[in-house]
Amino acid sequence: MNLTDVERLDSNDPLAQYRDEFDIPDNTIYLDGNSLGALPKRVKQRVREVTEQQWGNDLISSWNQHDWVNLPQQVGEKIAPIIGAAEGQVICCDSISVNLFKLLSAALSCNGTTRRNKVISSHDNFPTDLYIAQGLQGLLDEARCQFVDVQEDQLLDSIDDSTAVIMVTEVNFRSGKRLDIKSLTERAHQHGALIIVDLAHSAGAMPVYLDDCQVDMAVGCTYKYLNGGPGAPAFVYVNKALKGKLQQPIAGWFGHQNPFEFDPQYQPDSGIKQFLAGTPSIISMSAIDAALELFDNLDLQTVRKKSVVLTTLFDDLINQYGLSDQLQRLSPASTEERGSQLSYSFDFAYELCQALIDRGVIADYRAPHFIRFGFAPLYNSYKDVWNAVEQIRDVLHSGVYKDNRYAQRQAVT
Ligand SMILES: *Cc1c(COP(=O)(O)O)cnc(C)c1O
Repeated sequence: MNLTDVERLDSNDPLAQYRDEFDIPDNTIYLDGNSLGALPKRVKQRVREVTEQQWGNDLISSWNQHDWVNLPQQVGEKIAPIIGAAEGQVICCDSISVNLFKLLSAALSCNGTTRRNKVISSHDNFPTDLYIAQGLQGLLDEARCQFVDVQEDQLLDSIDDSTAVIMVTEVNFRSGKRLDIKSLTERAHQHGALIIVDLAHSAGAMPVYLDDCQVDMAVGCTYKYLNGGPGAPAFVYVNKALKGKLQQPIAGWFGHQNPFEFDPQYQPDSGIKQFLAGTPSIISMSAIDAALELFDNLDLQTVRKKSVVLTTLFDDLINQYGLSDQLQRLSPASTEERGSQLSYSFDFAYELCQALIDRGVIADYRAPHFIRFGFAPLYNSYKDVWNAVEQIRDVLHSGVYKDNRYAQRQAVT
């Protein structure tokens, strides 16, 4: 691969026009969209309108006038096609952590009649997912929730007739390894268990087929590949086959079948609205609503194809420049088995990351010694990959990453 080949890839890129939809600072190569998606220009405009016109001028009447009250469902319906879900099964609310708590406890009480208590996840799942299961075990005690963590490659075999719920993340946040959700779901169902899938690193980066795979429940966040902004609310998916069979534990007024009757007795909504708890964060939810317009008429197969070529190009260039002795790839070699990120192990991963940020290449570090590069097909170009690897080569060859100033740890990595 040389620069001409890379420029040819860009000129034939069917997604090239999307880059202009984003505000990305000059001289910045942003390879961290797997952690915080870049800012879509239309989001800036929407947030201005929501604060100045709606909140500022129309005040409380906006709940009706601008339909604020239906935003969680409206946004849910926009997310649905991105994750392969038909209508009425997705709602936007809270964070992944809180939503996992709702789903996992609902799943356990749904399975309660069969006296199953085992919740299985993988040891290297995203920590919050594990913490939620651990917390629930403490709350319910082990007779009702026994949390078991296994190695990722043991997940499939660990499902048996004692399993209540298997809780997995499709794409591993650290390694970028992608699991086979279809097989895991089939196995779970063969044994009468339920599956909860975390789509944090899938939604918006690749096609997801929740309905086709008959996944029971899912969660995901909107601030990574969906570009909803820092702390944008997450989403919940519940398969319609489970409609009416689940009861989520945070029985808040927005999940009531008629919140504005102010009934002293909780009556859950019969549909996906039950998974709401309190008042939605309108400004943030409006931001994600605007960001999702970019996914109208967007073919996620095309997004995935570009993602695969971006990661392949990056890794090929690392090899071509002989950098793979230093940067040892943690992500799988097979593109089929990975998401839209590449992770490498390097003793000075933190320092390397800081030195790259100093040169405008934004990646991130994950303890204990990994550097992650996320590829967002809507705004990353092939030239970005080329330029990033040039900088990596330079930083590694010069040894500049060993400079003391790059070793200063910050609160967020
Ligand atoms: C980013 C991420 C989260 C974040 O959870 P929040 O509660 O929304 O902060 C959870 N799980 C996975 C797998 C993630 O990658």
